[in-house]
Amino acid sequence: MKESEVEFAMINKEPFNISEYKDQHARLNAVFRSMTEGIILIDNNKNIVYQNEFINNSLFHNMGIEDLKTEMDLIAFLQQLSVSKNKKVDQLLQSEDITVKITLEDGNQLKYIMLNKFSVYSDTGYIGNGYLLRDITKEEEIDQLKSNLITIASHEFKTPITSIRGSVETLMRKDAEWDEDFKLELLQGIHEDILHLQDLISVWFDIKKIEMGTMSLNKGYFPISQLISNTLDQLPREIADSNKVSFNADNISEIPLLYGDKKRLQQVLLNLIMNGLVHNDSPEKKVFLTAEAGSEDVFIHVKDNGIGISKELSKKIFDRFFRVDNSPQRKTGGTGLGLSICLGLMKEHDGDILVDSEPGKGSIFTMKFPIDAKEPGGHYES
Ligand code: ADP
Repeated sequence: MKESEVEFAMINKEPFNISEYKDQHARLNAVFRSMTEGIILIDNNKNIVYQNEFINNSLFHNMGIEDLKTEMDLIAFLQQLSVSKNKKVDQLLQSEDITVKITLEDGNQLKYIMLNKFSVYSDTGYIGNGYLLRDITKEEEIDQLKSNLITIASHEFKTPITSIRGSVETLMRKDAEWDEDFKLELLQGIHEDILHLQDLISVWFDIKKIEMGTMSLNKGYFPISQLISNTLDQLPREIADSNKVSFNADNISEIPLLYGDKKRLQQVLLNLIMNGLVHNDSPEKKVFLTAEAGSEDVFIHVKDNGIGISKELSKKIFDRFFRVDNSPQRKTGGTGLGLSICLGLMKEHDGDILVDSEPGKGSIFTMKFPIDAKEPGGHYES
């Protein structure tokens, strides 16, 4: 039975089925309470008459929305939370059916909310307005990820593709004879560019897998020395041949075996080592590796004598696409995705990456792994 029918029956002193009415009311209440969207109802006098649990508990947790009394209060509240003044929020009071996207700061993260205002009619006519609020942060992040990837794709792909095209067109010229050394040099350049493009593509696949939680890991036990020596073997020849990267293996036998996906952990370590050399202005670039075991964790420290990072930015460098120097004149390429993938991979191992750095003094990036709880202290390298 509808509310208007109840009122009508009451006015006319007609009998109506109160238990059916209560059931319906309870059902509606349960639906509103369990919704994963926010609902706010405003009556004809612009007073807030209802907010469901999701509004308080999830969307605007601890932000004081439960104390608001009127639609004006609500609009001022949304405007105040918005990261920048949003003209459409001011239009909410006058407009009947309107959709507004609000960006607000929640802790130190951005939160995106899609707000839909609609008119509520009963059989007797207009009785007020409803606000439906949906958290669209995840969708928004995926949208931003896609557009960032497209920007980076056009930027990062352009140089190697142009260079491959130039080399191939040179090699194809029928009017010229090239000597073998020159041909080999061009082919080596093409090969390098193709490897770079393949790296970019695998970075994107990794981001997607981490994002979607579909990263599959091939875990097993292995000694830490294997992880380190396999990673050093992957260094580009000119770096491996220099003495830029060194490793102190003194305490290696005291460190329990690691449990994880060796290839993926090598990928993390290699990334940290390369970062230490790339973001480095020293005339003698150095990266120094050490390892140690605590009571619950194993640590691999990657120390460099590079440019360092301020405390404030040390938190941001793990954000996707973040680069301390994002200017077109920056000296290093890169996508700003490496550390975000590294952290994602360490988290997949229940581990972490710690940073200790100071501008101008270099950095220490630490891979942290939990010691496998199932085999406490039982696995050591022989
Ligand atoms: P990329 O190296 O491709 O730019 P990363 O995600 O690996 O992306 O790193 C993000 C940013 O963090 C880098 O652009 C750089 O500004 C900073 N950074 C990373 N590692 C170091 C380091 N060892 N020393 C100084 N800055 C670093």
